[in-house]
Amino acid sequence: MERILVCGGAGYIGSHMVKRLLNEGFDVTVFDSFETGHREALQEGAAVFEGTLNNPADVNGVLEMKPFDAVFHFAARIQVGESVRQPSLYYGNNVAGTLNLLQAMVARGIGRFVFSSSAAVYGTPLEIPIREDHPLVPINPYGWTKQMVEQILADFWRAYGLASVSLRYFNACGADPEGSIGESHDPETHLIPNILKSALSNSSEPVLIFGDDYPTPDGTCVRDYVHVCDLADAHLKALDSLRASPGVRAYNLGNGCGFSVKQVLEAAERVLGAKIERRIASRREGDPAFLVADSTLALKELGWRPRFTSLEEILQTALRWHRCPRY
Ligand code: UDP
Repeated sequence: MERILVCGGAGYIGSHMVKRLLNEGFDVTVFDSFETGHREALQEGAAVFEGTLNNPADVNGVLEMKPFDAVFHFAARIQVGESVRQPSLYYGNNVAGTLNLLQAMVARGIGRFVFSSSAAVYGTPLEIPIREDHPLVPINPYGWTKQMVEQILADFWRAYGLASVSLRYFNACGADPEGSIGESHDPETHLIPNILKSALSNSSEPVLIFGDDYPTPDGTCVRDYVHVCDLADAHLKALDSLRASPGVRAYNLGNGCGFSVKQVLEAAERVLGAKIERRIASRREGDPAFLVADSTLALKELGWRPRFTSLEEILQTALRWHRCPRY
């Protein structure tokens, strides 16, 4: 049975990954600091080690537990605005913490790593849809932390033979269709949870649309929404590809379809069968107008094809969670 360490396995995407790995029969260990992860998201059957990547003793502690075959790394700070205000937190956690982990892996000869990267590595796209060979020019510290780790991974492959795949997620969304785990951030900054929370609460707080004067068909930002279970699936395929052909690679993960903020609101209204109050607010700093993935490389080289291609279907899974969130 292959042993997988999942850093950040109590977070949104990490917990969906853990569930999938357990279903597939892997031996799974979760490493999490529980600063942003949820104990309630832990899955029965996974071993748990509480610690922080910034503490080498914690990293060595978890790696001593068993001879891991691969590490999946989801543990990171993810808020763009916060990264602008507190870059030290982001470079410390996302870069220095990851470096600790990679150094400890190299010291133990653990040779496979799947990294949660982001479309934020591209900055403001020069071309849509975005391909992996688009220049990496992030426009905020969060994006730079992802780009820097990708650079470290390229160098670690050449120098130490640490094989890795970086998966550049576009807009992760949706929830486990069985409803036991889902998206819960504090504060919640993401569009779909904010829409569903606003629609389901009695507070009549409108959804804020951050800007309707972008150069897009309806003036609101266009994003590529990709289901969290499809992201988990891509990790398994990335691991297969590392086994078959070690190296250092990066893939976009998106549906390849762009939806504007207004289109997401309309789809949510259809799924809910109710009107959702909205208000136009000013633009949020650092939001590019369009982000849409060209994921043909992941299809060609990993055999990855998203299963959740309809926005309504994605919203249904998110709604199921938000009607009855467990954390
Ligand atoms: N957005 C919005 N209102 C919200 C949250 C987000 O209008 O309450 C917009 C945001 O400006 C962006 C899109 O929705 O254009 C997706 O934002 P999200 O934070 O979900 O993901 P991001 O694209 O920043 O990774």
